[in-house]
This record gives sequence, C-alpha cells and structure tokens, in this order.
Amino acid sequence: MSTTALASVTPAASQALETARHHLAAAADRLGLPDAIRRRLMLPKEQITLQLHPVLPCGKSLECTAYIVRHSDVLGPAKGGIRMSTRVSADSVAGLAMEMTWKTALIGVPFGGGKSGIACDPASLTPDEKELLIRAFARSAHRHIGPEVYVPAPDMGTGEEEMGYIRDCVSHSEGVSITRGCFVTGKPVILGGIHGRREATGKGVVHTLAAACRHLGWEISGLRVAVQGFGNVGAVAAQELCARGARIVAVADLTGGLYAEGGMDISALQTHVRATGGLSGFPGANPLPPEAIFEQDCDVVIPAASGSQIHKGNAGKIRARIVAEGANVPLTPEADAILSKAGVFIIPDILCNAGGVFVSYLEYAQETQREQMSLKEVEERLRERMESTFTEVLAYSVAHNLPMRAAAMDIAVGRVAEGIHARGAHP
Ligand code: NAD
Repeated sequence: MSTTALASVTPAASQALETARHHLAAAADRLGLPDAIRRRLMLPKEQITLQLHPVLPCGKSLECTAYIVRHSDVLGPAKGGIRMSTRVSADSVAGLAMEMTWKTALIGVPFGGGKSGIACDPASLTPDEKELLIRAFARSAHRHIGPEVYVPAPDMGTGEEEMGYIRDCVSHSEGVSITRGCFVTGKPVILGGIHGRREATGKGVVHTLAAACRHLGWEISGLRVAVQGFGNVGAVAAQELCARGARIVAVADLTGGLYAEGGMDISALQTHVRATGGLSGFPGANPLPPEAIFEQDCDVVIPAASGSQIHKGNAGKIRARIVAEGANVPLTPEADAILSKAGVFIIPDILCNAGGVFVSYLEYAQETQREQMSLKEVEERLRERMESTFTEVLAYSVAHNLPMRAAAMDIAVGRVAEGIHARGAHP
C-alpha cells in the first residue's frame, strides 16, 4: 500500500499565536486584568491532535495531522472554522481559536472560541480524496464536536460541501436522519444550512467598510480597492463592492495577481476562476506579481487570504488609507504599529470578518428551532449587527482615544473576563 504524507509545517505557522497573545497582553494591561485571568486566557482550554490516515479505494493511504482547539467556552460552545492548508500547525490553530473567542464575544453571540486545522494542501487533492479526508476528520473528531461543545464551520480550504459531509458523517454514526441540534454551520441549505451563510463574511466586510467610509466622510462609490485572496471572503467582498460602485483595481491569489486601473469585471473574473482554478491568465487585466498587491495605488486594501501577509517588510509600502481585515490575523504587530502610526484606519479582523460567525449563529438557532429563515431576514440582521457593532467599537475608540483594534479587543476581552467572574471560582 502506498502512502502520501500530505504536509509539513512551515516555521512561520506560529505567528498567529504570537500575534493573538500580543493583542491579548495589551488588552489585559489596559483593562488591568488579574494575573490569573490573563494566564488562563493566554492558553487554550483544550487542544487535540489527530492523526488521519484514510485509505483510498486504489489502496493509497493519505496521511496527515489535524488539530482541534477550544480556546474558551466561557460564553458558550466553542465556534470556529476548519482550515485546510500546509501552514496549519498546533500553534497556528491555537492562535486562530483565541481570535474566535474575541470575535464571538464582540459580535455578541453566545459562543466561545475554537478552531480546527488539517495540515495538507487542498489543491493537491482530487474531490474524492478531499471528501475522504474530511470524512476521516469527522469520524476522528466526532467526540469533540457537538452543539454544546464545539461547532465547526468553513474556513480557508473548506466550504459548504465539506460541512455537508461532516453533517452526514455525524448523523450516519448516530444512526439518525437529523442531528439533535447543530453540529456544524455553513452546510448546504438542503441539509439545514442557512441562506446567505456563504456570502456572510464578505458582505459583513463590506458593511464595516461602508460604516468606516461614513465615519471618514467618504463615498464607497468610486473607491479604488485592492483585494488579496479571491476565495469565499475576497471574491464576495469584491463583488459586493462593485455592486456599490467601487473599482477593484488589484487582486491576487496563490496563482498570480492582476491590475486594471479602471477596475475589473468581477463576475467575469469569477467565471474565469471557476473554469481555471485561479486568477492567472484572466484576459481583462494586466498581470501583477502577487507580492506587489499591497503596494498598488488605491484607497482601500482588503487582505482576505492567509495570516501575517502584511508585515514590517511591506507595511510601509501601503498607500491605502483603510485596511479592512477580511482575513484572520493578516497583520503582524509590527505592521499594525507602522500602519497605525501612518494614520491608516484599520478595521480589525474580530470586527471586520465577524459576519460569518454571526450568520453561523443564526443557522445554529434556526436548527434548534427547526425553522428556516429567509435570505431577506438573514441579510437584514447581518447588516444591522455589523453596523451596530462597528458603531459600538468606534464610540469606545473615541471615548478612550484608542485605535479600533484596541477598542474591539477591550470590549471583547472585558466581556469574557466578566463571564469568568460571573461563573465564579469554584466549579
Ligand atoms: P478560501 O480558501 O475560500 O480562499 C482563500 C484565497 O486566498 C484563495 O483565493 C487563495 O488562492 C488565496 N491565498 C491563500 N494564500 C495566499 C497568499 N499567500 N497570497 C495570495 N493569495 C493567497 O478562504 P476564505 O474562506 O475566503 O478565507 C480567507 C480568509 O478569511 C482566511 O484568513 C479565513 O480565516 C478568513 N475568514 C473566513 C471566513 C469564512 O466564512 N470563510 C470567516 C472569517 C474569516
């Protein structure tokens, strides 16, 4: 039997944890958190490593490591997506799980923070291999997933299809057609998913960007925008911005970059990506080295790919005046400091990309009540929650003379600390 080891972990993978801890330490200092609570929040509540080795019908075995981290369940079951990438490591998943704790607390849904990662390159797998691998993950992870424990969702490298397979694995293992409560969000609508979940993160990014523009006295119409990552978050945000009259002047993904001074036809670009698997070769724009995406002359930059893409080496080259963090942890602390000093308005990830987890909460509630929400209702509630949370963070930032990230962190960490106090010291 032949075996394929699917990934090795790159050393840069733990930057997400370092960055998450850096932001937590700063918030803990500002809030004067007791040491015991600070230490507790620096570490995940639970961290699990799984070895997956599903065997294909041809006899080939796929080997890889997966991680599940529950950072906190103080405010509810851990919530957070499943990432499939070669950059997945125990530490990177722990960092992203910590971010989820702040995101759910900030956006005001009764969840804690969690994350899963499967260390492999999804692009190297056939659809059958990817299905087999996600089913192997679901079987191994079954004990750790559930509506009261940890509820996964899509993240980089996974989507609606994979969530459907997880849902099927769980109900198959339990010998039931429907699951008791919501085990996974972001699944197909036909299996109890919610209308609008796939678009929720990208649309949420645009709601916060629109709110930032109102605050700064700008119009969305006519804005020149550069987007890194053209997957679920980046492509939806780009499409929505075009619909509002903005120009997407630059985009980049793992296959290449594109630039068009007059803006790109995003519908045509999506058709091209569906047909070819990436941006490279799109005839409606000029090729651009992907690493040059952040240096382009534009008003807004949306990082919507992997973490730490804006760092001390390229932050100083950014010409945009707004950075909207569609991705999780896209800025290193050094880049954050450089951009803040330069007066760039940063919409932090725990606010900017929280639309996905907010609509996941609606899916969770809908499944418990066995009721289907309409797309109109989902979209209206998403817009309202993104705008009201932006307003809350902005008001805190003005009142305490803090950047938006610090304001968002203080509100979120303060809520989790309040939850710890309310639960009391003796379980
Ligand atoms: P996806 O897998 O659908 O798309 C990722 C895109 O980023 C692809 O176009 C890929 O080619 C590109 N990419 C990856 N690494 C790159 C690099 N180094 N340079 C340029 N392009 C690169 O993923 P997604 O779901 O859109 O997630 C994107 C980001 O948004 C991630 O940081 C994720 O954690 C975050 N996020 C996603 C959701 C969600 O609902 N999917 C919610 C919140 C946050």
